[in-house]
Amino acid sequence: MAKTMLKVDNINVYYGAIHALKGISIEVNEGEIVTLIGANGAGKSTTLRTISGLLKPKNGQISFEGKSIGGMLAQNIVKLGISQVPEGRRVFAHMSVQENLELGAFIRKDSKGIKEDMDMVFTRFPRLAERRTQLAGTLSGGEQQMLAMGRALMSRPRLLLMDEPSMGLAPLLVKEIFSIITDINKTGTTILLVEQNAHMALSIAHQAYVLETGRITLAGDAKELAASEEIRKAYLGG
Ligand code: ATP
Repeated sequence: MAKTMLKVDNINVYYGAIHALKGISIEVNEGEIVTLIGANGAGKSTTLRTISGLLKPKNGQISFEGKSIGGMLAQNIVKLGISQVPEGRRVFAHMSVQENLELGAFIRKDSKGIKEDMDMVFTRFPRLAERRTQLAGTLSGGEQQMLAMGRALMSRPRLLLMDEPSMGLAPLLVKEIFSIITDINKTGTTILLVEQNAHMALSIAHQAYVLETGRITLAGDAKELAASEEIRKAYLGG
């Protein structure tokens, strides 16, 4: 039986008077890739930012491994094992690749483990290893995405939240990033992936949710959703 790792139960989130999330419920099972797809402005980023503690839900429950985390400080949520790769990468432009990765481990004190994980990131992303001392702001878009993923992995998350990793990348690079996401998942990290590229997201995910203007309108097995007429018409170009 699959074990629920993250449970988002009927949350409502507002930006002032704007009601961005209208009673959203999502479950992520341990070991899976779960994707949340939807058009611009549907509330995908808002959902991730609420789970990672950057926004507070007005009501509803969020629990991670049975512990209630709704409204908890973001840094404490990272300590519990959730890490987010933000939309638009957001690397520290004036710091080197290595310094960005070190910052990803800010909650940890085990210097031996940090060193091991830095080596793991450089093995997974050889292009970052070649650019260890380069300023992050001078990396290409794809390399910045890899750095943002590497930085998130430096906290040894059990759940990785990814916000539109394909954004602005050429098709070949999108393929490469998605293949890395699959590898990260296979080595034991559970992933909640937000994407506008529904085709790619559904191809690697186990479960999927469709978000429309702040509400979940469809949910289910990713392969089944990819095959459904409704999804094909609305999100996969017929
Ligand atoms: P995209 O794919 O374009 O990033 P999204 O699905 O991630 O879209 P959100 O960024 O979560 O959508 O936005 C959901 C809604 O909340 C939108 O209507 C947006 O305009 C609104 N919103 C987002 N951030 C803010 C903010 N800081 N202040 C006010 N409204 C916001």
